[in-house]
Amino acid sequence: MAQAIRIHEHGGPEVLRLEAVTVGDPGPGELRLRQTAIGLNFIDVYQRIGLYPTTLPSGLGREAAGVVEAVGPRVEGFAPGDRVAYVLATSGAYSDVRLLPAERVLKLPDTVSDRDAATSLLKGLTAHALLRRTYKVRKGDWIVVHAAAGGVGMILVQWARHLGARVIGVVGSEQKAGQVRELGAEHVLVGAEDLAARVRALTRGKGVAAVYDSVGKDTFMPSLDCLQPLGVMVTFGNASGPVPAIAPLELARRGSLFLTRPILFDYIKKTADLRKAAAELFAVLGSGIVKVHIGQTYRLADIAAAHADLEARRTTGSTVILP
Ligand code: NDP
Repeated sequence: MAQAIRIHEHGGPEVLRLEAVTVGDPGPGELRLRQTAIGLNFIDVYQRIGLYPTTLPSGLGREAAGVVEAVGPRVEGFAPGDRVAYVLATSGAYSDVRLLPAERVLKLPDTVSDRDAATSLLKGLTAHALLRRTYKVRKGDWIVVHAAAGGVGMILVQWARHLGARVIGVVGSEQKAGQVRELGAEHVLVGAEDLAARVRALTRGKGVAAVYDSVGKDTFMPSLDCLQPLGVMVTFGNASGPVPAIAPLELARRGSLFLTRPILFDYIKKTADLRKAAAELFAVLGSGIVKVHIGQTYRLADIAAAHADLEARRTTGSTVILP
């Protein structure tokens, strides 16, 4: 019997239940995967608490890596034993064995471990979308990265530095600040108090070209005040709660700012876009330009503790769940 984490109601980490599930043979276009490592993401928390709409009961989890166990009819290019990883817009990664659409599965190069792939695909493809497409950072650009010691944050900082950006990271503690400095951030601010004034001082009054803000409600308005004219406000998460509505004139009076609320899955909807972005991600992981920092490891049965730690800001870098 296979095992999966499921929720039957929205609520705290206690609603996460480990259940026995039946996984059959793969159908046309499907693979059966024996998972070796699963990624934990803040989006899993939003889904658990009901911030993002979910039909109940539901599985949870969007990314994992493992070994192909069986290949369904009309699947080309995969064989049992292949090492693979995936990120999906639908849930169900919190499990030991599962079926997957082969079209969305990525073969892993030898240079990328299962654990690194499982904990960096969703986060790394998000970083790719934000830095390469949402606002294309250029050499010498100042940028602000919130939650810079988090899973997405650590990848963003390293990749942005590689692209030549000058990074101001924002974190919640001195210990996290040290880690982000080591990744190449030029400045790291502990806490977001007086954010705009501190960012203006660091950039000689100029402001930054883009703010990557995943904290949401608590930091949105101060983040807007950090931008230079025509700067780009990228609000891409709600760790402190969703951002309330704002009037377009708020953007005008700060210098004709651009505002966007990107979602990774819109950027990788086309399989060709997924494969192209993943190839770029695997290249920077394989060459060591971006290193995955796995700060915590939990067993699948202890998923409630993993959620509690992520929500309480006790984690750094990525978190791996072992089935
Ligand atoms: P993180 O590892 O970054 O964890 C969240 C971090 O946010 C915390 O460690 C904490 O860092 C910071 N934070 C600040 N305020 C709060 C608060 N009130 N409650 C909790 N955390 C807070 O998570 P992920 O890497 O999984 O995700 C990072 C963000 O990116 C999330 O907001 C997520 O929703 C978003 N995201 C968006 C995607 C998209 O497509 N739009 C895709 C992937 C992720 P500190 O203590 O240093 O402040």
